[in-house]
Amino acid sequence: MTSLARRAGVLVLAGLTAAFAACSQEEPKRPESPPAAESTPAPTVADIDGTRIVAADAEPESWLSYGRTYSEQRYSPLDQIDTESVSRLGFVWEYETLTNRGLEASPIVVDGRLFATGSWSTVYALDAKTGAELWHYDPKVPGKWGRYACCDVVNRGVAVWKGRVYVGTLDGRLVALDAATGKVDWEVDTIGGEVPYTITGAPRVVKDKVIIGNGGAEYGARGFVTAYDAATGERVWRIYTVPGDPSKPFESPELEKAAATWAASEDPAAPKWWEIGGGGTAWDSMAYDPDLDLLYVGTGNGSPWNRWVRSPGGGDNLFLASILALNPDTGAMAWYYQVVPGDTWDFTATQHIMLAELEIGGRERKVLMQAPKDGFFYVLDRATGELLSAEPFVKVTWASHVDLATGRPVENADLLYKDGPSFVQPGPAGGHNWQPMAFSPQTGLVYIPALDAGKLYSQEESFRFRKGSWNRAIGGAVGASGPGPGGAPAFTPPPSQGMLEAFDPATGTVRWKIDHPVILNGGVLATAGGLVFQGTGDGRLLAVRADTGEILKEIAVKGGILAPPVTYAVEGRQYIAVLSGWGGAGIQAIGPGTAIETYGNEGRVLAFALDGAPEVPGEPLPPVRVPEPPPAEGDAALIAQGFALYDANCAMCHTAMSTPVHRGVVPDLRLASASTYAELEAIVLRGAREAGGMPNLSDVLGADDVAAVRAFLIDESWKAYRAQEAAGTP
Ligand code: CA
Repeated sequence: MTSLARRAGVLVLAGLTAAFAACSQEEPKRPESPPAAESTPAPTVADIDGTRIVAADAEPESWLSYGRTYSEQRYSPLDQIDTESVSRLGFVWEYETLTNRGLEASPIVVDGRLFATGSWSTVYALDAKTGAELWHYDPKVPGKWGRYACCDVVNRGVAVWKGRVYVGTLDGRLVALDAATGKVDWEVDTIGGEVPYTITGAPRVVKDKVIIGNGGAEYGARGFVTAYDAATGERVWRIYTVPGDPSKPFESPELEKAAATWAASEDPAAPKWWEIGGGGTAWDSMAYDPDLDLLYVGTGNGSPWNRWVRSPGGGDNLFLASILALNPDTGAMAWYYQVVPGDTWDFTATQHIMLAELEIGGRERKVLMQAPKDGFFYVLDRATGELLSAEPFVKVTWASHVDLATGRPVENADLLYKDGPSFVQPGPAGGHNWQPMAFSPQTGLVYIPALDAGKLYSQEESFRFRKGSWNRAIGGAVGASGPGPGGAPAFTPPPSQGMLEAFDPATGTVRWKIDHPVILNGGVLATAGGLVFQGTGDGRLLAVRADTGEILKEIAVKGGILAPPVTYAVEGRQYIAVLSGWGGAGIQAIGPGTAIETYGNEGRVLAFALDGAPEVPGEPLPPVRVPEPPPAEGDAALIAQGFALYDANCAMCHTAMSTPVHRGVVPDLRLASASTYAELEAIVLRGAREAGGMPNLSDVLGADDVAAVRAFLIDESWKAYRAQEAAGTP
């Protein structure tokens, strides 16, 4: 890329830390794409269809759909880069996205073109050999929508089908672009209405229908999945994942049955699940079996998390945290398996759904596999939904085991938080989150980007639904162990751990694992070269022996990685491509050792091949310095009030003040400049930086609240400043 572009990226990051460009996250405007050629686009550009995806192994140079194939194994037959040659792997090209938020996309590669997405749902079409931009498309998502994305303004990729590129935008649109030019062909609003749904997941296309879900359970959403005609954008079907108001007609017989598993309070003043959404949003995983003609979709947690508030009369709350098998033509349900009946921990089943043929107990089975947040690795018969095994892949305390006879988990009653706080493993980050796994048919192992991270759960004292805000009905600080000013930490959780695990689904055992320095790391790729690839939060691309877990090669990428690598070939040369740009849930959980602390968070698409350069471009930035804060304001009571308001309204993005001062994805407010303090009311109550993603919060906060938050921030900044000065200038 040009030196100009690189300078622009670095300037933004310097601005974030020194001058505090703040929540605005102003990003340099990329020049508009050059006008498209006069001629009509050739119909052969990215002409992917179902026949081609099913026969994907016949063109290993391509990566045709999200998980390469409908089975979503993320395994490539390419083997030029193998356990011997990988020592020669090096950097080939970079493309700068000119963003500084999280990048999570899995690129699609076809006919020498690479299609990826970035922050704010922008789509990039690149030459897969050189990284040169062919076109880009910015859907102009309103900055205020960033408020409704729990875990950053991310997007996990496009679908490509018959010359069109499909992207779901953060503000709920599904857009079809001409693959040759990036021009909009059609666009539909998939969400409508009042509820602030978000789309971060990649669409899938099955039988000329684009399938898309959404997120937003914590914001009062009722989950649904919709299929649109790929050519016209016309809606073909929609299914809801949880029942609506039971006094109204149900949309399907399944929902009528599901409603019997929900029990609202008899108290007319108590919130009802259909008023606060219910949840069950399908925000990520799908897979398709063309032989059985079944589409598999994973659903999310309850809204709110706390089951005693959501459904005080008990019940399983179908179809929360479930795997649904659907007819792709109609959306009709063939079977379901509820992973977590009556979820009360934010345990989604939206994690990667993967299909494979496995020998289990001496018998060949067509299976569906998932390692959801709850920490058990599930193997189901994908024709019937029968549970074949469920063994823990990380430390699990919420349930002792899953009973194979009933298919139900056996909850650990001692660790329910109904009557008081309980530390539970895993926590809401999950034993595994959205980062894709990979399966190697060579080893029979599934490679899981896993984590060990629990949470102290408790009930919120008196839950009140707050429209447009984060609703969990869970007590305590959003920022985990954050004690608040003057308050002692109630509980210090054991340290969290990120890792790469090789799990044997036939035996339900972990074969090997690699511990990582940072909790949040990237998705995984497996190849016929006997290798597994993963990027890490501390800024390395790892190539690992698939059979033993030995790290054969690591390349410093000078940026944090969350996205999964893909592999493809152009003119006989095999490439590994991955997006670098940290964020996601990492905007709330920055710890020491992240690459962005050293290099900032300049978004890039990076490509590697044999005999590439040994070094990825990038220079370390100076350490962050807390500027001298304004004079202290207010008394201890005001500061304590400011902490509570900060925790409820700001900590989700700006992180808990219990974390060390850091170069964050969203700014650490202890680094705020005097001018930001002066403008604070305009920023918080009048949307002065809304274009860049800092929402106008005037619907939930008033001027007195801003004054309290300001007093709290100044107090925290002084603590950090004094500690810094006492430690001396580095
Ligand atoms: Ca959730």
